[in-house]
Amino acid sequence: MSLKGRWQRVQDRVCTACESVGRDPATVTVLAVTKTVSLDSIAQAIDLGISEFAESRLQESLPKIESLGDHVRWHFIGKLQSNKVKRIATHFDAVHTFESAKQVKLSELSGRTIDGLVEVNIAEEPQKSGVFLKGLDETVSCLLTSQSVRFRGLMTIGPVVADPEQNRIVFRRLAEIGRSSGAEWLSMGMSADFDVAIQEGATHVRVGSALFGERN
Ligand SMILES: *Cc1c(COP(=O)(O)O)cnc(C)c1O
Repeated sequence: MSLKGRWQRVQDRVCTACESVGRDPATVTVLAVTKTVSLDSIAQAIDLGISEFAESRLQESLPKIESLGDHVRWHFIGKLQSNKVKRIATHFDAVHTFESAKQVKLSELSGRTIDGLVEVNIAEEPQKSGVFLKGLDETVSCLLTSQSVRFRGLMTIGPVVADPEQNRIVFRRLAEIGRSSGAEWLSMGMSADFDVAIQEGATHVRVGSALFGERN
């Protein structure tokens, strides 16, 4: 199927999920995840009207941001390494994966104003990224008082599951925690499970393979 066909299919899924819970599809932003995707395909996506992109590795994203930069917004969704945070904040418009006050401070060194989300490890899987519930307040407070990073909300990566319904409880929990921490944005749901995430309140879904095809 063409990129155009897949984009239509993703938009249909967004609309169906929104309709099922009485949401306006305009409240959901699809972030096109471009890891391993060529510049050519990203340019095609821009032609189709896609304007928000997400990458998880700084090195791979720099040439893409440099050649396409001004027309589109870039969201960082990968693990933050201390030695790269400042450069990530220099090149990206939003960072979804803050885990610590230290990372927020390092990002402020870029001197730019960006959007910031805290990544939460809802299932508290030790091998996975994201703060546990007990560490959440400290990182959120740091963002709320930051002069350059605007606190926008929370992000989570659902566990890999056989049936997307199994992640409903994870998304529901992020939405609950989001309400108590004043989050406007909930970044949750990927190709396999974004329908369920939207039903539970996702404002940003991160979609790679459903748009660009399976990654190698
Ligand atoms: C790769 C990636 C995605 C997109 O995954 P798909 O299953 O291809 O949609 C979403 N979020 C994060 C954090 C990713 O690394």
